[in-house]
Amino acid sequence: MATIINGKEVAQKIRNNLKEEVTELKKNGKILKFAVIMVGDNSASKIYIKNKSKACEEVGIDCEEYILDSNIQMKELLDLINTLNEREDIHGILLQSPIPKHLDIDEAFRTIAPSKDVDGFNPVNVGKLCLGQDCFIACTPSGVMKLLEEYNIEIEGKNAVVIGRSNIVGKPMLQCLLNKNATVTICHSKTKNLLDITKNADIIVAAVGKEKFLTGDMIKEGSVVIDVGINRLQDGTICGDVDFESAKEKASYITPVPGGVGPMTVAMLMSNIVKASNGRLSAKQVPSE
Ligand code: NAD
Repeated sequence: MATIINGKEVAQKIRNNLKEEVTELKKNGKILKFAVIMVGDNSASKIYIKNKSKACEEVGIDCEEYILDSNIQMKELLDLINTLNEREDIHGILLQSPIPKHLDIDEAFRTIAPSKDVDGFNPVNVGKLCLGQDCFIACTPSGVMKLLEEYNIEIEGKNAVVIGRSNIVGKPMLQCLLNKNATVTICHSKTKNLLDITKNADIIVAAVGKEKFLTGDMIKEGSVVIDVGINRLQDGTICGDVDFESAKEKASYITPVPGGVGPMTVAMLMSNIVKASNGRLSAKQVPSE
């Protein structure tokens, strides 16, 4: 029976530590401020923004919300981002996706100043992650790494398999595991013989977006199973990409859904905002030999 990784608890610990740090900064006259931009009226995005602003409140970070009309043109969005880039009192900027199709999200991400890009989607930060340089890392993969660290799960030399190659989860996840010296395989919708690959994995990260996709018979005895998936079922409940019941019988560690990776994403966002506020990016590099 696997150890259940308690993401809710780890995320709370991170927020508590950040709150202390933010309180200390406030005593020295520094107020942290975060700007979140949403375009249009997406109900899921509204919930995400509410969660983020709630976490900001708990940690002590001021949060400015910009809800833009779905009919705006690209120039208006870029003008807002540029204004926020220039404001010294704003430390982090996040553009909530998705945005309406007539707008170019890549250009918007490119426009967010890399030093305020707390979601880690600006190509400068993506490139730095690939080069193993200190940068802002997308919050979900960095949350996964934090969970592995908190549970003292060894990564170096392990066979790690990431299922899913999205820009926001799969690809940065691959890079994070590689930077910690895992041997990483990334699988996607065109992958052949998925079972042969997952059966050999010491660590598996499922980011597919299909409920209960990874079942117990697809994994190796003693593997570490991380479930990134959030799938909403018809009855309103959510479930992950892993069939928790069968996988937990074989895994050594497993994350539940909810209460696993989900709470870590927002906690890592808070952590990135604090990092952005004190310009803590270092020149540290990870090994590439
Ligand atoms: P996505 O749809 O962009 O990517 C899904 C990936 O799965 C694709 O790369 C695709 O190639 C791959 N895939 C699809 N079918 C496959 C198959 N049969 N075999 C192998 N690979 C296959 O999704 P995403 O944005 O990366 O999100 C993945 C999941 O994670 C979703 O459930 C999403 O809701 C969830 N998510 C959770 C958080 C969080 O905070 N926990 C954050 C982001 C996304």
